Amino acid sequence: MELLDIPALRAHFPHNTRHRAISTQTSNMKFEEMGLSDPLLSAIGSAGYENPTPIQAEAIPHLLMGRDIIGIAQTGTGKTASFTLPMIEILSTGRARARMPRSLILEPTRELAAQVAENFEVYGKNHKLSMALLIGGVSFSDQEDKLDRGVDVLIATPGRLLDHFERGKVLLADIRVLVVDEADRMLDMGFIPDVERIIKLLPQIRQTAMFSATMPSEIKRLTDAYMMSPRTVQVDAQASAADTVTQGLLRVSGGFKEKRAALRKLIRDSGVKNAIVFCNRKRDVATLEKSLRTHGFNAAGLHGDMHQSARMETLAKFRDGEIELLVASDVAARGLDIPNMSHVFNFDVPMHAEDYIHRIGRTGRAGKEGHAYTLATRDDSKFLSGVERLLGKPIPPISASGGQSGSSSAGEQPAAEKQDDQEEPKTQDTKASETPEEKTDKPRRRRRSRRKAEPESQTEGESETVEASAPQEASPPQEDSEPQEAREPQEAREPRKAREPRKAREPRKAREPREAREPVRSDTSRDEPARAPRKRDDDHDDDGAPAFGNDETPAFLLR
Ligand code: AMP
Repeated sequence: MELLDIPALRAHFPHNTRHRAISTQTSNMKFEEMGLSDPLLSAIGSAGYENPTPIQAEAIPHLLMGRDIIGIAQTGTGKTASFTLPMIEILSTGRARARMPRSLILEPTRELAAQVAENFEVYGKNHKLSMALLIGGVSFSDQEDKLDRGVDVLIATPGRLLDHFERGKVLLADIRVLVVDEADRMLDMGFIPDVERIIKLLPQIRQTAMFSATMPSEIKRLTDAYMMSPRTVQVDAQASAADTVTQGLLRVSGGFKEKRAALRKLIRDSGVKNAIVFCNRKRDVATLEKSLRTHGFNAAGLHGDMHQSARMETLAKFRDGEIELLVASDVAARGLDIPNMSHVFNFDVPMHAEDYIHRIGRTGRAGKEGHAYTLATRDDSKFLSGVERLLGKPIPPISASGGQSGSSSAGEQPAAEKQDDQEEPKTQDTKASETPEEKTDKPRRRRRSRRKAEPESQTEGESETVEASAPQEASPPQEDSEPQEAREPQEAREPRKAREPRKAREPRKAREPREAREPVRSDTSRDEPARAPRKRDDDHDDDGAPAFGNDETPAFLLR
């Protein structure tokens, strides 16, 4: 390992920079100038990186010097390498003791945690660091065996980590480096109390890095309370999205059906290679996916009710190009790193303006060109104003073909598109007095008002019960027939059958299955009393069943 040129690094980053946002535009460091060792430089070379991204150029030297940092950056900026690379360097000397990991990375979702683990695999290929992943859906026994042998890097969601800690499976007294990634997401999802609890369990002498796309006051409170003279390194999220992503807004007159037609046309006309189509509601993910497939698109859905193994499989297929369009909810797609994605479509304008930045950040990654098109009906206007306020400017209007224009209406569609609409299920025409919009609006309004009272994590739609999707799956396949399948039956059934059995079922659903299932998981905790781990918020998308059996665990987790 090369010795660090500390004086040169100090000259580059002066001391008196507490909470000072460092301009990312001025740094033109090379990886070779950062004090990274040859094995690490070789792994970086194999990953195909030529130069550090701005967040890497700013964060890596500070972390190598042992300083605490606050990284204000979103995914897509190379932030994962900005902490994994120095961590590998820092951990390259020393050994982990049984059940006492030497570093800890907290992630809000399983997917992000798994992604960070993959990053360690890539960058750490020339080091002998061991790693464990504590997330829902991954076999306890494999990870506990690893913990027993001693791990250098522990990557976890907060709730899972506390479960393991409470069961005595992991001790946190040896943690030298802590990374809290996507802190604002943790806040959104209600994980901050768990994060704070974990931090209090760590040694006071440690290095801490906290990454967040934004810096709400609650996160600022954490940084003030638990970090030592942190340096703030910042990549302007807005600029990084805008630089490489061409944005466009397609105004659609009409409702859900017209939006679907407009989306199809937009996809056909925009030269899409691969894209994520974001929906605000999990239920719409399923409907839209089905509709797109009916119309001949190569699409698959990704939402939190899917079994973990199915989610991983879908993602792998999307990454490999076997699936072109991934229809997803925000939580399911959060932070996913899919290289070279050509387009992002916002089928709905996100309810939280910041999600717009996160969504469009899925394309145009690492300096590549990307396109982000947003569809908006009148229903979206409120959320659209929020997004445009955040952006500080309007999203440029486009026509359904992706060119500049005003608005699109289903009535103005060319012949080919009209044909698509004729394919819409006949059932939609059966209630001639009700427009499709009216049909879809009613349940939607009702749901929206209910959501207002729900906590944020549920607003994301990942932890709610699947009342809407059950009848949908039971229905015979119909072309693009979502409003009928997912919504109307719900309206029609609720007063009669749905209520009674639900009352009888709910208490059991909430308790028994978990208690009954956990021992299955804790087959892994052979010598433990059968104590079910607490239900945690970050299990929000966990259906309670162990998702990976031993043979389903991804290979990189078993190494
Ligand atoms: P992240 O923001 O960590 O999710 O990274 C976004 C993407 O940028 C990932 O696909 C990384 O592999 C890629 N990446 C990270 N660092 C670099 C770099 N220095 N040069 C090129 N690509 C990079």
